Amino acid sequence: MKRKTRLVHKGRNPLLHGGSVNPPIYQTSTVIHPTLESYHAAERGKAYYEESQGGNALDFSYGTAGTPTTFALQEALRDLEGGEACVITSSGLSAITIALLSFLSAGDHLLMVDTVYGPTRRFCNKVLKRLNIDTTFYAPNIGAEISELIQDNTKIIFMEAPGSLTFEMQDVPAIVKVAKSKNIITMLDNSWATPIYFNPIEHGVDISLQAITKYIGGHSDIIMGAIITKGDDVTNKILSYYRNFGETAEPSSCYLALRGLRSLSARMERHQRSVFTILRWLKERPEVAKILYPALEGSPDYKRWKELFSGAASLFSVVLDKKYTQEQLSNMIDGMKYFGIGASWGGYESLVLDFDPSSIRTATKWEETGSCVRFYIGLEDTDDLIEDMGNAFDRL
Ligand SMILES: *Cc1c(COP(=O)(O)O)cnc(C)c1O
Repeated sequence: MKRKTRLVHKGRNPLLHGGSVNPPIYQTSTVIHPTLESYHAAERGKAYYEESQGGNALDFSYGTAGTPTTFALQEALRDLEGGEACVITSSGLSAITIALLSFLSAGDHLLMVDTVYGPTRRFCNKVLKRLNIDTTFYAPNIGAEISELIQDNTKIIFMEAPGSLTFEMQDVPAIVKVAKSKNIITMLDNSWATPIYFNPIEHGVDISLQAITKYIGGHSDIIMGAIITKGDDVTNKILSYYRNFGETAEPSSCYLALRGLRSLSARMERHQRSVFTILRWLKERPEVAKILYPALEGSPDYKRWKELFSGAASLFSVVLDKKYTQEQLSNMIDGMKYFGIGASWGGYESLVLDFDPSSIRTATKWEETGSCVRFYIGLEDTDDLIEDMGNAFDRL
């Protein structure tokens, strides 16, 4: 089965659910079993995520471990990412923090990409630091030279490609090669590309992380994350650890995530077409000094993106021609008609925010002097979006 077909058919077994095309929302805490034997078998933890492939719906003992709705989402995402197991968490950030804490102990060392999603960085600096776990941030373009940063106590190399806000690519194969030679676990935050456009696990990464909140949810109405693992040791560790955190995802949100997932390939194709249309127009605007987007020919990361990814998402940033005051930026952005001012992305509606990368980099220095603006391109007509952006630049 090709990926787009799997996207439609995996994690779904109508005959287990009264013929219903979509697995229903199992809204439950207690799970009643017919016998003690059945209950204890479930408690010992059978392969709970296999339920949607035809396993016994009673293979779970309590709602916190997930319900058949959760298992259906797990199975669909596990398959798409090419992993061996998938666990669903209450947010994208908690997928990241649980994955990290499942492996790190006091005295360990972590290598973290400098362009990582801000809250992941904060978790390292606030929580891991207090637990006596040391983080070294590394430049996103480091490649095989990451070997020079590895210490005897390095347990994890964490990647995000492309990076948050500034969209630098990483040499994933080179980093994975070094990590494997030293028995270091690799993780990659794959929220931007989604499993439609990149499969970290196929490139040897041990754990792929998703903020389902973004493109997979796709409608700005749920918060959820996923940890997808490959390899026995890594998989067993995640499966035996994540439940200790009291993490669980609401079945109703799992239902919405599955519903979003089914249309992911169609939405991503459309997002991609729109973003390229908009970037062709944007390149000619005199207010734009630089476009930060790896899928743009001429971008320093274009070659790497082309080698690894099969497509591009619709989130990018621009560096403006000079430093503008907050008032000037407000004048530009506040009056936009279709671009909402707000965090997150991945929904059907376009978004915009200004940001300053200089304060959130430590391994690298941000050399650009112009103000930065991030755009998320939704599913609106690109003519309308271009008109809105044009008016915004005129106001600026
Ligand atoms: C938003 C985001 C997350 C976190 O997802 P939440 O569900 O909002 O916690 C993680 N990584 C990246 C790259 C993100 O953009």
